[in-house]
Amino acid sequence: MDNKSLERLARGIQHCQKCERSQTRRHAVPGEGDPSSGLLLIGEAPGKKEDQTGRPFVGRAGQYLEKILSLHNLDRNQVFITSVLKCYHPRSPKNKQIEACLPWSFRQIESLNPKLILVMGRWAAWALLGMKNLEGVPNLLTRKGRNWVVTCHPAAAMRFPARDREFRKGFKIFASKAAELDLWRAPSPKTKGK
Ligand code: URA
Repeated sequence: MDNKSLERLARGIQHCQKCERSQTRRHAVPGEGDPSSGLLLIGEAPGKKEDQTGRPFVGRAGQYLEKILSLHNLDRNQVFITSVLKCYHPRSPKNKQIEACLPWSFRQIESLNPKLILVMGRWAAWALLGMKNLEGVPNLLTRKGRNWVVTCHPAAAMRFPARDREFRKGFKIFASKAAELDLWRAPSPKTKGK
């Protein structure tokens, strides 16, 4: 993992003017967490709370995500979290904005060199992996020489019970692959439930 280039990328993102989202943002949201964890979570776009703070997943979807992380004995500081779009806009993402922003995520992936990536949501799956829909997800894929788990977005999981089940299943696949890669350990039976 290359910390310097990750920091350079964060500064680049904060000053980026490549699309109209730069006109409406308060703070760009490059991402945060443990860059050496080997675990990367990628969502879709910052919301209002993220725009206010410059931090990813700090609103309601973030609370849901933290709850799921904690069910696996993980804390948000033990993974790296970002989104495909780095800036807030009140309207849904446009293809042009995603195309303009996507190189930042690919450069972050190069710098972080994660061993496992959780892709959350259909725009993210489309942008990062060219997936046209979320049929057959959650699933584990090997693409571009990396391991990816694709699942729905936490915001959808919060609202719809079927998406909630899907997200939890996706996260379970992610956690067991992380354990297999020795990036995360399941709690031992003794500490479980404490
Ligand atoms: N949804 C995302 O995809 N990213 C955030 O940072 C917050 C909500």
